[in-house]
Amino acid sequence: MAYRLLIDGKLVDGASTLDVIDPATGAVFETCARADEAQLEQAIAAAKRAFPAWAALGHEKRRDYLNQLADAMQGRYDEFCKLLTREQGKPLAQSQFEVGGAIAALRYFGEQDLPLETIRETEDGKILEQRTPLGVVAAITPWNFPVILLMMKLAPALSVGNTMVAKPAPSTPLTTALFGELAAEILPPGVLNVIVDANDLGGKITAHSDIAKVSFTGSTGTGKRVMESAAGTLKRLTLELGGNDAAIILDDVDAKEVAPKVFQAAMVNAGQVCLAAKRVYAPRSMYDAICEELAKLAREAVVDDGLNQGAEIGPLQNKQQYEKVLEIIEEAKAQGKVIAGGAALDREGYFIAPTVVRDLPDSARLVREEQFGPAIPVLVYDTIEEVIERANDSEYGLGGTIWTNDADRGLQVALQVQSGTVWVNKHLDMPFDVPFGGAKQSGIGREQGIDGMKEFTQAKIINVANKIAA
Ligand code: ADP
Repeated sequence: MAYRLLIDGKLVDGASTLDVIDPATGAVFETCARADEAQLEQAIAAAKRAFPAWAALGHEKRRDYLNQLADAMQGRYDEFCKLLTREQGKPLAQSQFEVGGAIAALRYFGEQDLPLETIRETEDGKILEQRTPLGVVAAITPWNFPVILLMMKLAPALSVGNTMVAKPAPSTPLTTALFGELAAEILPPGVLNVIVDANDLGGKITAHSDIAKVSFTGSTGTGKRVMESAAGTLKRLTLELGGNDAAIILDDVDAKEVAPKVFQAAMVNAGQVCLAAKRVYAPRSMYDAICEELAKLAREAVVDDGLNQGAEIGPLQNKQQYEKVLEIIEEAKAQGKVIAGGAALDREGYFIAPTVVRDLPDSARLVREEQFGPAIPVLVYDTIEEVIERANDSEYGLGGTIWTNDADRGLQVALQVQSGTVWVNKHLDMPFDVPFGGAKQSGIGREQGIDGMKEFTQAKIINVANKIAA
């Protein structure tokens, strides 16, 4: 078995196996070890045993370990990129970006420290805040960005002294298993454990009394289940959930210039991005022009197996998502006008033609729900107040973009958008030192930045009087 679990420093076969499908063909191309509950228990116990020594090791030594992991990943960069495209479907260039980002994240978060802070110091004494690791952290990751999302959890969590049980999504377990193989050679036993399931162990992880925190990225529905089952042990939670981000185009732009940016924001990773543009709002004066430009881009986009040179949009990652997106598109056909795409490609694999739909009511599923696929509704608006209200009329609040030649005007709109991040004239710019997270039902907590690192620790206040009071 090439892809194994990592438990207590050893690569082990699973109690059973899991077939992994190449979404570009729809056929099984690899198998991976699959854990049972007993193996999950072993992994959690190993992480618990490893915690005291890892926490006591000190930041610099942990940073050195993370740098070694980054070096090892760099050494197998091509293998990671190809495997990521194979299991996830994204074009190779996007895999390269993701794997490169993961390596950089290991180095960046390894470098950051959370030193003892002095809140106040007087001649009578001082008040300090110490940040201590939590214990065993579970990283539960989804299938859209299996590598970078793992590393956004693993790198800060380990850097500040936690140990970890990582569980990838069952349809994209291989890159996480490959990372486990590297970690087996580098990390002390138990510091990182990799468990692969078939969507059956997540609940056990989130309810387990020896896990101190769950850092979860996935759908809002599953996030709610995580929160529910974590309640019994009052676990710390970071939840990065779904979004339905609005792209608001202001009336001062050039349609030809802005359309490719908005198209890319909607179609990157075949739209399977929590922060993808999922609803486009265009001013009435430019509505036809923007619809036409987006439709043209959709018709011209190269949709192909991500391993093939020139592929711009790959397949959907799994059959369930593919069927869901096709269903949403079918419903949109009845309510609006499809001006590009609108169907699956006539080939094997989970390919859907990039789809642009205009003239939909705000109540359409493609507008209200998170489609998570290469299909975008273009909606018309008349006033800024109206478009802000419609953009905010959502249970989600993850990201959003504003497109304008007047950055100050863009800022004024951005100030009124209810979400965790708003970009003006750019998208997906997410430096590691900038916190990221959701408003409303898009999540709880932050990742990245010092805010994100702090979520892998607890604050302890030490309040010292220099002398025992008389
Ligand atoms: P999707 O619904 O798009 O398949 P999910 O949000 O369900 O994605 O999956 C994200 C991650 O959550 C995956 O690793 C999945 O195995 C895991 N998961 C699924 N159900 C649960 C659960 N009840 N508790 C914890 N994790 C879960």
